[in-house]
Amino acid sequence: MEVERKQSVILVPCPYQGHLTPMLQLGNILHSQGFSVIVAHTRHNAPNYTNHPQFVFHSMDDGLQRIDMSFPSVETLYSMNENCKVHLRNYLAAMMEEEGNELACIIYDSVMFFVDDVATQLRVPTVVLYTFSAAFLHSIIMILQQPEKYFPFEDSQLMDPLPELHPLRYKDLPFYVVNNKIPEWDLEFHRATCDIGSSVAAIWNTMQDLEDSTLLRLQEHYKMPFFPIGPFHKMGPLDSLSSIFEEDNSCLEWLDKQAPNSVLYVSLGSLAMINDKELIETAWGLANSEQPFLWVIRPGSISGFQYAEALPDGYEEMVGERGRIVKWAPQKQVLAHPAVGGFYTHCGWNSTVESICEQVPMICRPFIADQLVNARYLSQIYKVGFEIEVIERTVIEKTIRKLMLSEEGENVKKRVVDMKQNIVAAMEIDGTSHKNLKDLVDFISALPS
Ligand code: UDP
Repeated sequence: MEVERKQSVILVPCPYQGHLTPMLQLGNILHSQGFSVIVAHTRHNAPNYTNHPQFVFHSMDDGLQRIDMSFPSVETLYSMNENCKVHLRNYLAAMMEEEGNELACIIYDSVMFFVDDVATQLRVPTVVLYTFSAAFLHSIIMILQQPEKYFPFEDSQLMDPLPELHPLRYKDLPFYVVNNKIPEWDLEFHRATCDIGSSVAAIWNTMQDLEDSTLLRLQEHYKMPFFPIGPFHKMGPLDSLSSIFEEDNSCLEWLDKQAPNSVLYVSLGSLAMINDKELIETAWGLANSEQPFLWVIRPGSISGFQYAEALPDGYEEMVGERGRIVKWAPQKQVLAHPAVGGFYTHCGWNSTVESICEQVPMICRPFIADQLVNARYLSQIYKVGFEIEVIERTVIEKTIRKLMLSEEGENVKKRVVDMKQNIVAAMEIDGTSHKNLKDLVDFISALPS
């Protein structure tokens, strides 16, 4: 029986896979708690409405010609923020004139910072959603307070530790670093995303038990309630189908034929790009490791190539049934498959959380931004992964063997099993995520409408 839905929330996602997915998952969670959910999305990379019949959708013209499926430029993000303003304002104004409207708040991705301006003008409360780890935001805030302390740095300092940002080194500073300097526009952009204006609370796809002290420090900085209610994909009644790309489910049948814990799953997420040299080194590293592997090569993810034309000649025939290459995988199902024993990942936050939730240890190959921070935490603090710092076939081969076949690898596996158990405990009644969700629902329900 459909419950009577009294209040609605508007969600404003950022139109990239790693952002869209957690926002739609949050929609599921809130819908299951009795809220009506409206998703105000950009015209580009719109969610597939038929996958979410429980939501109302509203399309905003982002004014963009197209959205590149590679790391978004700051210009694209600013344009999107600028262009959607009028549209959201008109939509909200019309909605507020409606009889019986009970809009509780707007929840926006921290990258869509225009929302707070618009909502404040119309006196609608806003709540910010962070789709990355607290550790990442904390490091950004620390650096923004004193950028001159970190930039520019010398090549000789790259591996030097930064004690106040432990476990980061200069090499891991999560900015767009060019020639060991940080461009002013990157600083400006981060200042914009860290300025949450008059938002009244923050929601996190993380777990309080995992990031407790960092969340507390951030909460002191922002002076508002925080609701870490992760892992989102396990907290809702159903996980949303939110893939922008078409999933190749045939790899699940291939996984069914593999021995338990034997397969290395390889994926670098929805945006990272590599060059042909890295493709070739990775290909040989995988082949020479002699472990079964499932490798996602996203079309367009190899610079200068349409697809994987730069793979060594006859590569797929050479690895035969031991390797499987797909364009996009049903990742959460893959990670949950008993055959998967390791994940070679770019350490995007969703991939990180999904991997821990399925107790899959990792090989970390980060590229940019929060991935650099996540990789350090996974390898140095949580110790559930090994970092690859030199992209070279013998290094890749050795690291795969270390993860999948060595005693050190087994210890890493034991720790990720413990982490998973802590997450399961957080989701149980009396667990922190469960309790924080209840508090979030009470908080939103009590917002003045
Ligand atoms: N993903 C997927 N199939 C793939 C690769 C990735 O479904 O073949 C999903 C993955 O489960 C995750 C998201 O894409 O939810 C990627 O988000 P993440 O934060 O890990 O990285 P990003 O793509 O933002 O760099």
